[in-house]
Amino acid sequence: MPPRVAWRPGSGHFAGGDAFRRLRYEHDRACDSLASIKTPATAQLVFKHDDFAQELLIAPAARSHLARHRQCFRWSKEAGGQLFGVVSDKAVCILEANGPGPRDERTRVSFRSDPVVAQRNIDLRADRGMLYLGEWHTHPEAQPVASAMDIDAFSRLLRQSEVRVSSLLLVIQGTENGPPGITVYSGQAADIKKWALKI
Ligand SMILES: [Zn+2]
Repeated sequence: MPPRVAWRPGSGHFAGGDAFRRLRYEHDRACDSLASIKTPATAQLVFKHDDFAQELLIAPAARSHLARHRQCFRWSKEAGGQLFGVVSDKAVCILEANGPGPRDERTRVSFRSDPVVAQRNIDLRADRGMLYLGEWHTHPEAQPVASAMDIDAFSRLLRQSEVRVSSLLLVIQGTENGPPGITVYSGQAADIKKWALKI
């Protein structure tokens, strides 16, 4: 059995800058249901990975925030931001997702958080006992897959950020509502893993 990695609680420092510049070129696809954009999620999502002792939970509030920013129109720009929550022996819980902000750089196929605002948000959450857990952004595809540039940017974030958790998350929200529309990766140093939805 591979070693199980415990995530260590703590606040974080966002590398920002060019570490999270992303560019992608993918096909357009409309959302499955436009009405669903305004319908808040009522259930948490649970993901798992054999290398980790903890499960990963995405609370309804965070889920709903991501779902609201799905790129359902041809003119929808990518959205994104930071993920916050808590870590216990049993689970890593994403309780809150923020962003995008007015100073973020956004196009149809790229998103870059304003690093100053991102760091301020991380510090504010730390004061409330919330940990910086990683980053999220949207893709204009139904079931999103991290692009090569996403992986490159995530790798740089992992190298450059001084975080007190042992792993960071990259969550991508596609156009599809519900679990297949969300893809979760965790990263620790150069090791990036894709998580599976727990049925
Ligand atoms: Zn991406």
